[in-house]
Amino acid sequence: MLILFIDGYPYYLSDLISGEKFPYKIPHIPNYGYSVTLHYEIFQGISPNELGYLGEWIPIGNPTRNAFTPFQKVMNKIRFRFPFASRVIYKILRRQGFFPLGVNQLFVRKGSYLLMENREIIIGRTKFKIVSFDEIHDYIKRDEKVFRKAFDLIKNHRIENIIVAFTGLDSVSHKRGVLSEAYLSELEKILYFVDRLYDAYKKNYPNKPVVFISDHGMSDAETPVNLRLEERIGYPDHSFVYLYDSLYLYVWNFNNNFKYNMIINFLKKMKCGKILTQDERQFFRIDSPRLGDLIFVLNEGYYFRPNYFGLGNEKALHGYGHTVHNQYGVLALSEAKENFFDEKKGIYTKDIYRFLLNLEKIQWK
Ligand SMILES: [Zn+2]
Repeated sequence: MLILFIDGYPYYLSDLISGEKFPYKIPHIPNYGYSVTLHYEIFQGISPNELGYLGEWIPIGNPTRNAFTPFQKVMNKIRFRFPFASRVIYKILRRQGFFPLGVNQLFVRKGSYLLMENREIIIGRTKFKIVSFDEIHDYIKRDEKVFRKAFDLIKNHRIENIIVAFTGLDSVSHKRGVLSEAYLSELEKILYFVDRLYDAYKKNYPNKPVVFISDHGMSDAETPVNLRLEERIGYPDHSFVYLYDSLYLYVWNFNNNFKYNMIINFLKKMKCGKILTQDERQFFRIDSPRLGDLIFVLNEGYYFRPNYFGLGNEKALHGYGHTVHNQYGVLALSEAKENFFDEKKGIYTKDIYRFLLNLEKIQWK
């Protein structure tokens, strides 16, 4: 099986994918979370509950914190007022993310990208070789390198089971916006790579399936939101921890119902987003309290700027969830597969792994 994975390819552009090569296409309705959790769910069947995180960082168990030093206090005051200058200081201090100083030690980074170059993953009984980016090249060069390597493996080394991961389209959407000139030229290039790899693979393995998967779509992000929670409610501490990234606010209440209720009341009044319900969290397998006692998601087009990850100056985002059609990714297949392709229904992230397992079983017959 050849899996062509395109990070951030939206369903609303699925007409551009060759209908001759991929006659079966359905929307992939993405789970909440970003690529780090979606990929584990798609390729390994592991939910965010099982992973233990949704947005890369979680509080360390039993966090304690000393009082802020005078330097930290000053930095935290000016952090959002002079974000660019503050980022330079963060760089010098070699801080990951953009946490308030003195707060970052309450958290540990758990998330990592699954589809790393030179890794192998097992789906069912089949070992897949991953061809993906390395850190050295920028996004434009990355995909070219991935294509050349995958083409060589398929054509000259006759590797049968490969996952080829193109990540340039996601990067260019974040940096330049969806349907920008740079976006369209990256899109054209990736579709050309997909065609070439498909042809090379089908030449060697005419009866094996080729799968086209994207993890999510993409929405332009136009409206910044600054919650000013530090001023309103206070900094995260050992009893009450929160953080916000591009479009989620996670709150963990360890021992401070007063502040927790305060934040719930505050968030309920916000028109720019919503608190995820318990039913919804259960359905998407993100209801473990480790992921946050409360998760607040912004509506499409809104984003936190700045946030605890960075300056928040991205032009387009994903993670808004299943109710937003622009966020749908694509699942497409080269072969007929009965009772599966209901274009109206689409497929949820959590069901893709089972779909791949079924394909894999068919091959082994
Ligand atoms: Zn992305």
